[in-house]
Parts: sequence; C-alpha cells; structure tokens
Amino acid sequence: MTPDHEQHMDRLVDGLRDAGVKHVVATMVDSGSITRVKCFDLDDLATFARSGSGFSTCWARVMSNDHFTTTKALQGPVGDMRMLPDTGRAVQLAATPKWAWTPLDLYDQEGEPFAFCPRGFLKRMIATAQERGYAVCMAFELEWLLASILGDGTVEPVHRGPGYSSNAWALTHDFSADLLETLAAQGVRVSQLHPEYSDGQMEVSLGVADPLTAADWHVLFRHTVRTISEQHGYRSSFSPVTVPGLGNGSHLHFSLYDLEGESLFTGGDRVLELAADGESFLAGVLAELSAIVALACPTVPSYERLRPLHWAGAYRVWGHENREAALRFITGMVGGRRDTANMEFKAADCAGHPYLLPGAIIAAGLDGIARGMTLPEPCSVDPGSLTAEERAAAGYEQLPASLGEAAEALAGSDVLRAAMGDLLHDSSVAVRRAEAEEDEGRPLEDLVREQLWRF
Ligand code: GLU
Ligand code: MG
Repeated sequence: MTPDHEQHMDRLVDGLRDAGVKHVVATMVDSGSITRVKCFDLDDLATFARSGSGFSTCWARVMSNDHFTTTKALQGPVGDMRMLPDTGRAVQLAATPKWAWTPLDLYDQEGEPFAFCPRGFLKRMIATAQERGYAVCMAFELEWLLASILGDGTVEPVHRGPGYSSNAWALTHDFSADLLETLAAQGVRVSQLHPEYSDGQMEVSLGVADPLTAADWHVLFRHTVRTISEQHGYRSSFSPVTVPGLGNGSHLHFSLYDLEGESLFTGGDRVLELAADGESFLAGVLAELSAIVALACPTVPSYERLRPLHWAGAYRVWGHENREAALRFITGMVGGRRDTANMEFKAADCAGHPYLLPGAIIAAGLDGIARGMTLPEPCSVDPGSLTAEERAAAGYEQLPASLGEAAEALAGSDVLRAAMGDLLHDSSVAVRRAEAEEDEGRPLEDLVREQLWRF
C-alpha cells in the first residue's frame, strides 16, 4: 500500500466508523450471474484491501444452482483467487447502517488481476475505449417482482396493475419512497420509478454513469431493493420470469462520446444523424448480438422472456424507437440530443451479467469501429408481424431461442473471446452450456419456482 492509499484507507475507515458502520458486505458477481458475498469487520477493511480474501477458483465455473462445471483450465479443488475490495466504491448502506458495501476485484496471489474477473474485464474494456479516444456512458433500467409471501407460501404480487397506474402506485408508494431515499443516501442516482405492466412488477431507471459505476449500481440497487423489501414485509425477485405475464427486463442504455465530450450518436452525417464512428460502434454490437445475448440472458427461463411480441427485443435488428428491436435507437427531444441520443439494448434480463454485458457491448462496438462497419437500414416494423419469408428477405433473424443456442453463439464469437480472454470466455461458455444441459426440457414452473429468489 502506498502512503496515499494508506491515508485514503484511514480516512475511509474513520468516516465509516463515525457514521456507525461496523461491518462490510463485499460482493462479486460470478460466471452464472449470482452475487456472492464475503462479510468482515470494518476494522479489517485495510487488511483485506491489501491482501484480499481467498476464494476458490471453482467460483469461476459455478452455475446459478451452485453446481460446478469444469473448463479446460479450471477444474478440481486446487487453486485460489484473492478478492480485494475496491474501497474507492465503499458506501454505508443507508437502510442497514451498521453495514457498508463494496465491490470486489479478483487477483492472483502475485497481485496480478485474475484473468477470470468479470469486473476486471469491464475495466479493461473502458480503458481500451479510452485509449482509442472514446468514452461510453451507460444506464440500466430494471424490472422486478415485488410480492408478499402468504402463510401458505403463496407469492402474492403487491399490485395487479393496471400498468403505470395511480392505483398500483397507491399500493407501493411507501416502499418506493423508502427505496428512493435509501438509494439517494448511497449516491445511486435514479431517473424514474413506476409500477409496470405485469402483476407486482416495478421498474426503476437508474441514472446515466460511466459503465463501471452503472454496473456497480446494478448490484447495489438489487441489494438495496432486497433490503427495503424485507423491511416492508415483502420479497423482491429479479428472475427473468416470475409470475405469468411479461418477464423482467434489464435493458441497458448506452451512448458513445469522443474524449472532448461530443456525442457520436447525434450531430453526424450518417443515418439518424449518427457520426461515422457511432454508426460503426452500433454495427459492431449488432454483429455480435447473438453471442452477447448469452451474457445478457443467462438462464433457461430467460428465453421464455426473450420472445417476440413481449417488447423484450427478440430480433437481431435495430430500429428507431422500435420496441420489438433488440437495439432500439432513441434520439430524444430536439435541443437536448447531445445528452439524450442513446441505444437501448433490450435483449437483457435481470439475471444478465452486470459486468460482462457492458464489457461485451464495448468490445463489440470497438471492433465495429476498427473494421469500419456500417449499419443496415433501420427496421421500422414489428419483425414478428412479417412472414418468415419476409423476415428472411429483410435479414431480420430471431435471436437465440434457447440458452443452449446462445451458449454456442458465444462459443463461436472470436471478437468476445479475444476481448474476454480464454479463461473468462471459456468459463462463461461452460457455465451456460452446463445450465442448458441441466435445465432445458424441464417444466417451466419448476424452474421459475427454483430460481425465484436467485438473482
Ligand atoms: N417487460 C419487458 C421486458 O422484459 C419490457 C417492457 C418495457 O419495455 O417496459 O423486457
Ligand atoms: Mg419496462
């Protein structure tokens, strides 16, 4: 630890202690998108920040049901990673004030970044973008089920719609006010909240941030929702499919800037006023979409959500304000487009990996720029309303319809393999193949019940 770092640690620990913090809950998100925690006393934060806490490398090849699969490089009980808190991100948890939260980064025992680390992958992609002259902004919007659990175990949604209604708000405002105040106290910006279409469904659009902050907020947001839900006698589920109806999406909005802060998604001379690099970035994402879906929709029930006619973005197309397109381009109101023009990646659910998804989008986008790729014409119809022949003629493919298909698309993506590195790419493919093998063909109700409180 450098003297500067030591001073930062002392100030951080003193500040948290003065605010009443006694313990730390530190999180990492594994291959199967489960948020794993390690907890320790605040007094030990500096020690953990220096030498980390041990975690078996088997967590790099764990499925969301806690079963382990294997990869070429990772198998058996031998091997350890060190998990180091990124203390610059530490924050007191306002609703459980004896606790602070911090994300973890994975290192090896020589102090080098461990090649599996999903958060490290995102950091690398942000740095690569910056080296090439670009800055990316991102914002997640998450839908989830808010429910009571009745004495007999029945899951009772807190509202029954109508979607976006004042009636549903009336049943959820106390919870929502607590949630918004807690997030604000933790520095998590929220742009909007409302009750959604499905029974008990809520939605929050998080504020725009740099991609690492956006990803950390995804984790901290879900952690906070779980806490506030429990304090109100509810439970919250971020599973892709919860109750019959629409699924829980976790759409990711992104925009691209040059290092002077000029938007490359507006003010240019390409289609819909995109700048040339903005167009190429989006074309790169479109080209890798089927592979990225494996990271954005990592469970078997994810593909029950990712269906046509659900506004979930089941087609590998882009369109202007087209809610059936996997990539929905939003120009925003005239006058403010420098700040508002963005692409919404809709083909993602709440089990989608908060670090791998943004990292993969940046990787694919940068590849599009490197190759000078261009976009096809924007799709301005619902591809699901066309015949199969019309879709084929227009080049509108459906995204993978199952986890197994998506896993093979990821396996075949040289762009993502090169960006992620073999260890992370192999483990992401292996976990998805293994989940597909265990879960495909099983009754959906069983999977929904088993996975309800998993994400
Ligand atoms: N629930 C839909 C999904 O799974 C999204 C609906 C909406 O656009 O708000 O993605
Ligand atoms: Mg929504």
